[in-house]
Amino acid sequence: MNIPLIDLKAQYKSIAEDLDRVTKEVLSSAGYIMGKNVTEFEKEFAEYVGVKHAISVGNGTDALVIALKSLGIGEGDEVITTPFTFFATAETISAVGAIPVFVDVEKDTFDIDPSKIEEKITSKTKAIVPVHIFGQSARMDEINEIAKKHNLKVIEDACQAVGSKYKGRNIGTLGDVACFSFFPTKNLGCAGDGGMIVTSDDDIATIARALRTHGSGENGQKAYNLLNNITEEVATVQNADDTVYNPLKYYNYLIGYNTRLDAIQAAILRVKLPHLDRWNARRREIAKIYDEKLKDTNLVTPVIKEENEPVYHMYILQSEDREAMLSKLKEKGVATGVYYPVPLHLQKVYKNLGYKEGDMPVAEYLSHRTFAIPVYPELTDEQVDYIVDAIKK
Ligand SMILES: *Cc1c(COP(=O)(O)O)cnc(C)c1O
Repeated sequence: MNIPLIDLKAQYKSIAEDLDRVTKEVLSSAGYIMGKNVTEFEKEFAEYVGVKHAISVGNGTDALVIALKSLGIGEGDEVITTPFTFFATAETISAVGAIPVFVDVEKDTFDIDPSKIEEKITSKTKAIVPVHIFGQSARMDEINEIAKKHNLKVIEDACQAVGSKYKGRNIGTLGDVACFSFFPTKNLGCAGDGGMIVTSDDDIATIARALRTHGSGENGQKAYNLLNNITEEVATVQNADDTVYNPLKYYNYLIGYNTRLDAIQAAILRVKLPHLDRWNARRREIAKIYDEKLKDTNLVTPVIKEENEPVYHMYILQSEDREAMLSKLKEKGVATGVYYPVPLHLQKVYKNLGYKEGDMPVAEYLSHRTFAIPVYPELTDEQVDYIVDAIKK
């Protein structure tokens, strides 16, 4: 049996009729940029997460860049984050001109260790970016308490955690801003790139909306006024969200970006969002089977904090002899993945930051041991059993 790490074709087949219909509708409508599907999906996603504003963008990386910029973070600022994550978390901090400051992770949950944050705070620190890695929430109460004490902003990197809960509260509502990715392999994925910024702060939302489209038009003007403490009225037009025929389009107020969620992706995500809770529940069901059947092996299974309801973006095992394990699983047709082989403080590109091996012992230890096995919702019980047997053998 051959089992991939994720099977996007299986998901497509399960909802093909709806996806084909909405895709065709967008194509024949010829409304490809912004428009009804985008604004409706933003509304539906905001409602799903439980926030006032959802601002869609081109991908999760751009969501992080714009979130940082909307909070005024830039040149010379320091931002605290984890080294055990996808590169974009730190890359975006660098991209806005700030410096990522790494804090080691907890050995059990792989999330940033709140007890090690305060020693890294300086007069330049402006924000903390916790990552809900593999779909399990970081310890947000502790993180928010530190942030409050030191007057820092909190940006949740929720790219792997859509639908996840912490102490009964939704991921995405736990900081000043949160960022999501709709990359096809994420728990909620589109047919290409997509991303979302969410916040309940009106001003952050206005600046983010302006930055997404060249800092122009009504939002650009409002964002300019906000950033410069100006209180005068702004010019408005009807259908100002229509970026194709908007008369305010060529009036620019900020240096921004061009990063929008395509209408066709929004239409696809509107079909998928109502299935998300069921898909995440199935991931938890599969994880439970793995937990039970693998607990008597010499592998370490994931530790979930009682306060968390994870969404298992990945099911991560740890092995003393990872390379041997992975090659044997490959022989048996079970795909695996290594997340993450190089912690970010040891990436070549960050040599200039001056970290060395031994600085983040937990992240380094994990980087030699962790690997992912298939956990996508369309996995059948028969496939799960096959994977368990292959691992046990
Ligand atoms: C996927 C991911 C991103 C970036 O999202 P893209 O849509 O690929 O740009 C950022 N952070 C984390 C933790 C991710 O997993």
